[in-house]
Amino acid sequence: MPYSYDDQNIFAKILRGEIPNDTVLETDHTLAFRDIEPQAPVHVLVIPKGPYVSYDHFAAEASDAEIIDYTRAIAKICAQEGISLDDNPGFRMISNAGAHGVQEVPHLHVHLLGGRRMGRMVQPA
Ligand code: AMP
Repeated sequence: MPYSYDDQNIFAKILRGEIPNDTVLETDHTLAFRDIEPQAPVHVLVIPKGPYVSYDHFAAEASDAEIIDYTRAIAKICAQEGISLDDNPGFRMISNAGAHGVQEVPHLHVHLLGGRRMGRMVQPA
């Protein structure tokens, strides 16, 4: 079944400039901005500019250029935010998808969380 993308989601509106955001990094194919309700001292959302609903959608259908840009952007943000293992504290990266993943916004995003020790990886619903 084809993936379906709703262009009225809030991150699509951010990409169109209809809603402001606190940008951390922008590249050709990627935008990263601070989460409006941060769950950790560092909480950055990284989104592709293309219309992908989830990580599997992106991994299956994005171009090599988009995938490389997105992946390299994550490395740049980790370095910029001081959470990279190069700086040694580390981080957690999460991407929720669909109902079981409890995804709120249906545009692919990874959460980069750092600046404190995280709790258990998965909690019961
Ligand atoms: P998820 O549950 O994985 O879909 O996460 C969606 C995330 O988007 C949540 O952590 C929200 O706090 C965040 N969020 C929603 N609206 C905005 C916004 N306008 N700017 C920044 N973050 C947002």
